[in-house]
Amino acid sequence: MATSAKKTKCPMCKNSALGRAQNRAYPFCSPRCQMLDLGAWFDESYRVPERGGGNGRSSSSEGQEPGEGEH
Ligand SMILES: [Zn+2]
Repeated sequence: MATSAKKTKCPMCKNSALGRAQNRAYPFCSPRCQMLDLGAWFDESYRVPERGGGNGRSSSSEGQEPGEGEH
C-alpha cells in the first residue's frame, strides 16, 4: 500500500486535517483551529470562577446551622 499521508478530522471545523508528521496543529487542521479550541476553554475556565464568586452563600449557610443550635 502507498498510503503514507494519514488524514484526520479537525475537531474544531470538521475539515480533514493532515497527520501529525506534516501538521503542527494536529489533531486540528490548522494552528488557527488549535488556537480557537484553546481560547474556548480558556474563556470558560476564566468565566466560571468570576461568575460564582461573590456572595459566598454556601459557606454562610453551612457555618450557621450547626453553631446556632447549641449556642
Ligand atoms: Zn479546523
